[in-house]
Amino acid sequence: MGLTRHREGNGAREFRGGIVALMGNPNVGKSTVFNALTGLSRHTGNWTGKTVDSAVGAMRGERGIGVCDLPGCYQLSPTSPEERIARDFILGGRADCFVVVCDASCLERNLNLVLQTLALTRRVVVCVNLIDEAAKRGVTVNGGELQKLLGVPIVLTNAAKGKGLNDLKKAIFDMLKGEKENEKGEITAERWDFVPTPQWAEAERITRACVERDSDPRGARQLKLDRFLTGKVTGRLMLPLLLAVVFFITMEGANRPSELLSRAFSAALSWLRTACSGALPPAVEEALFDGVLGTLATVVSVMLPPMAIFFPLFTLLEDLGFLPRIAFNSDHAFSRCGSCGKQALTCCMGFGCSAAGVVGCRIIESPRERMAAILTNPLIPCNGRFPALTALIGVMLAGALGAGGGVVGALVLTGLIFLAVGVMLLFTKLLSATVLRGKASHFVLELPPFRKPRIGRIVVRSMLDRTLFVLGRAAAVAAPAGLVIRLLMQSGAIGSIRAFLEPAGRLMGVDGATLLAFALAFPANELALPLLIGIYSGTAAGTAGLASVLALNGWTAKTAFCALILTLFHCPCAATLLTIRRETRSLRWTALSALVPISAGAVLCIAANGIWSLFA
Ligand code: GDP
Repeated sequence: MGLTRHREGNGAREFRGGIVALMGNPNVGKSTVFNALTGLSRHTGNWTGKTVDSAVGAMRGERGIGVCDLPGCYQLSPTSPEERIARDFILGGRADCFVVVCDASCLERNLNLVLQTLALTRRVVVCVNLIDEAAKRGVTVNGGELQKLLGVPIVLTNAAKGKGLNDLKKAIFDMLKGEKENEKGEITAERWDFVPTPQWAEAERITRACVERDSDPRGARQLKLDRFLTGKVTGRLMLPLLLAVVFFITMEGANRPSELLSRAFSAALSWLRTACSGALPPAVEEALFDGVLGTLATVVSVMLPPMAIFFPLFTLLEDLGFLPRIAFNSDHAFSRCGSCGKQALTCCMGFGCSAAGVVGCRIIESPRERMAAILTNPLIPCNGRFPALTALIGVMLAGALGAGGGVVGALVLTGLIFLAVGVMLLFTKLLSATVLRGKASHFVLELPPFRKPRIGRIVVRSMLDRTLFVLGRAAAVAAPAGLVIRLLMQSGAIGSIRAFLEPAGRLMGVDGATLLAFALAFPANELALPLLIGIYSGTAAGTAGLASVLALNGWTAKTAFCALILTLFHCPCAATLLTIRRETRSLRWTALSALVPISAGAVLCIAANGIWSLFA
């Protein structure tokens, strides 16, 4: 038996029943199969390159069996990090059963990896997934014939709907039970120098024997749609349009619920305060209601509605298959900056979370381009910054347009995102022309078919993984921070720090309190606004309250605009910096990655302040 000890989380745990490794080309449903087998929720999405690291979990109902999801690869030659991981996993004898997941609609390409794996081990179960999608494209796979030709178990599945997964489990159990008798399964040490030969001719022969094809009207439709979405003009227009629509829905949809939440919290808090009056010493009452609960109420009412709308929409685009098309359309811009379109994919991930975007940079093979992508990724505003951006745009436009300036708000936010992308490209170009000099590399980007998104799953996962995660993190820090700020305010310490930062704040179009809030929000970007409200008063609740508290503290549309730029180019959060340190193994590069957004933010704020003052 291969290795039965495996790392999971921080400790080593034993999988006495054996280890199952999931392999396959990118985007064939490995993580979906992994989640179904383990009951875990590894990130899935309709694009190549999202799984760059391995994950291990125990099989559901069979805790002794470990399941390992390997990064996607097309072959076993160790030319890319993903291929090396898969190859070493086989050669190292680290698994007792290899499940090669294949896409039924393009079996021939997937069979190349199956055949290369079979050249090394016979402990293979072939999982022909996406049979529903293949059927829609007129493709039928004859599993019995395939099994005869390959000589290993074949299971046909639709992992998204859970079809065929019981058969897959049974095939895995049979293989794990029988593997001792399978003498061909042992890997010998000499095979470490194994160089896989492409198996295309054999793959083609087998495909011809067991795949039937009818006409494919859906394929022709998809091709037409792709020509439109990746066309020279239409492709370039698609991205801003798509973003503007998503932002419009988010901002318009979030306004009213934010207000309602804010009112409900205010009413509940004042009721509670009256009910408790006299029961607590005045200082404690003030700290509890104005410091802890007031800040908490603001965080929830300002952040929850936009996140609950934006994150499911973003996940929907991801599941539909839009992200690689965006990468395709922006390849030209990236290559002009000395980088490649794969960086666009990592930027899309950065939209979700900068730390995830930084880890995602592993898909970029060239070390030079990878470093540039890591260092500039935090310039893309992450989930944590979106609620503040939408709230501040509301504040900025409130005087000019009143409530409901959704279209203008969406356009402003789209413009800001393009500003961030522009600055990111500029820094990529600067780095490629100086410390990371070199030529842009070429890459093959696979455009996956458009897939029907699983709406229920999208809503549940984006609420649990993204919305509640970000909100929980913000609330967990904002509540004690609210208290600490209240106490510091009582002692007068906040006042002196504010005064110290005031000149720099004024130069940047904001004030000392804003700079202090952004500095204190170092652990997590989403804290900046709640902290600022805490510093200003600690009593505000909701966006309506937010606008009036800011106005009371001398904010104008210009202050809100400069604060928007500060939010856009916030220093990477602690988790992102730790990830950058891990990925680059260098403190110097990590420091540079923090310096890049901070300096961009400072320069742009000073410029915006100066220009606005000239015209105002
Ligand atoms: P991986 O890159 O191989 O790990 O692929 P994922 O598990 O992330 O799946 C890629 C996309 O295909 C996701 O959008 C899944 O929801 C979808 N998917 C996975 N299996 C199936 C299936 O059997 N049928 C359909 N229609 N979609 C699937």
